[in-house]
Amino acid sequence: MKTILKQTRKNAEQYLAGVNEQRAFPNAQAMANMSHFDEQISESGYSAQETLDLLHRYGSPATVASNGGRYFGFVIGGALPVTIGANWLATAWDQCAGIKVLSPIGAKLEEVCSNWLLEILDLERDSAVGFVTGATMANFTGLAAARHALLKRKGWNVGTQGLYGAPEIKVVVGGEVHVSVEKALSLLGLGSARVIKVPADDQGRMLADQLPELDDMTIVCTQVGNVNSGASDPVAAVCSVAEKAGAWVHVDAAFGLWARASNTHKHLTEGVELADSIATDLHKWLNVPYDSGVVICKHKDLLREAMTIDAAYIQQDLSRQPYYYTPGMSRRARGVEAWAALRFLGRKGVEDLIDRCCAFAQTFTQRFSSAGFSVLNEVKLNQVVISFGSDEQTQAVIDAIHEDSTFWAGGTNWQGQVGLRISVSSWATTSADVELCCDKLIELANNVCKPG
Ligand SMILES: *Cc1c(COP(=O)(O)O)cnc(C)c1O
Repeated sequence: MKTILKQTRKNAEQYLAGVNEQRAFPNAQAMANMSHFDEQISESGYSAQETLDLLHRYGSPATVASNGGRYFGFVIGGALPVTIGANWLATAWDQCAGIKVLSPIGAKLEEVCSNWLLEILDLERDSAVGFVTGATMANFTGLAAARHALLKRKGWNVGTQGLYGAPEIKVVVGGEVHVSVEKALSLLGLGSARVIKVPADDQGRMLADQLPELDDMTIVCTQVGNVNSGASDPVAAVCSVAEKAGAWVHVDAAFGLWARASNTHKHLTEGVELADSIATDLHKWLNVPYDSGVVICKHKDLLREAMTIDAAYIQQDLSRQPYYYTPGMSRRARGVEAWAALRFLGRKGVEDLIDRCCAFAQTFTQRFSSAGFSVLNEVKLNQVVISFGSDEQTQAVIDAIHEDSTFWAGGTNWQGQVGLRISVSSWATTSADVELCCDKLIELANNVCKPG
C-alpha cells in the first residue's frame, strides 16, 4: 500500500506541476498512444505498480487540461488543491456515504456543508439538501419532488401508483431550457416535448409576461445561468405568479446559483430564494472534483417522501440520513470535498472566486471589443460569446484555437449565429492566463479574418 501511494503521489505531483504548460487538448501522439490500453483482459493480472505506471504514462498525456488555468470550455471549473487532498483521504476511507451507520463522518460533513451552503447562498435555512452526481441528477431529484407533491394534492401516490391514470401535470419551461431538464422530464415520465415553452428574449431569459395560465398542477422550470449568455430567468416574477396559482417552481441553477455568494452579483439571482426546488453543481463553480452537485428543496418532507425507500434492513432513526434526499443509496462521500472547499475558502473566499471569474469575463469582453470583434451577449456573469464575423470566419477561428491548443474554448450556436463561447469558472485562472489567452486569440483571429 505504501509503495502504491508514494508512486501515485509522485505521478499526481508531476501531472499537476505540468497541467498549466501542457496543451489544453491532447496532441495526436497522445491520442494515438491510448491504443496501449487496447489489451486483452489478462488471465492473472499485472502488478499494481505496473498498472499505475501505464495509467500515468499513457493516461496523463491524454487528458484535457481542464484542471489548469486556461480551460474555458463548457462551464467546468477545476479542483482546488484542498479538495484533491480531501478526495484522496476520503478515497482511502472508502466510506459508503448513503447511510449514517456506514459513515458517521460522511453524514456529519454533509450536514455541516448543507448548513454552510444554505447560508452563503442565502436560501431557506431549513431546506433539504441532497448530494448527487451533478446538476442533471439534481434537476431530476427536484422535479421528482415536484411530481410527488402535485400528485399528492390530488390524493395520488405516484411512488406506489405510478403515472398511468394519474391526474395530469402541466410542465412549463423557458425557450432556452437546458437539455438536462428535458432529460429529467423524460426520465420522470413527464415527457420532454409535452411541455409549454415560454419564449425567451435575446439573452435567453424567459419572458415572464408570456407565461401561460398556471394552476396547482403546474411545474414551472426556470433557469439561472444560461449556458451561453449566463443570463437568468426572472425568477422573482415567475414565483410571484406561481405562488398565487399554487404552482411549483424549480430552478436549474447549475452554475448561476453561485452568483448568490457574491454581494456584487447576487441581484442576478433575485427570487431564487422563493423557489420550491433548486439544482446546482459543486463541481463547476465551487471547484471540487467530479462528480458533485446538490438538490435543494424547501419542502424537506416532500423530497424525502419522493425518495422513500421502504427497507426493513435499514433501521431508521430520527436524524438526517444522506439517502433521504437522493435517488441513490451507496455512494462516495461527496460532502467531504465540498466541506473542504468551503472551509478553505470561507464566505469571502467563495465571493472572491466568483467575482474574480466575472472580472476576467469583463477583461475578455473589453479586449475582444477593442480588437474589433463582436461580443454577442450582455456579459454580466462569467460567460462571453464572441463572433468573428461570418459563421465561417468564427468557425475558422474556433478551429485555429483547437489546433493551437494554448487554451480551450468551444463553439456554440447562439441566437442563430456561430459563436466562440468562453466560460470562466476555475480557481486556477490568473490574470496572466487571461492576458495570454486574449493575446493568442486576437492573433489567431487576425490571421483568419485579416490574412496578410
Ligand atoms: C452544466 C449544466 C447542467 C448539467 O449539469 P451536470 O453537472 O453536467 O449534470 C444543467 N444545467 C445547466 C444550466 C448547466 O450549465
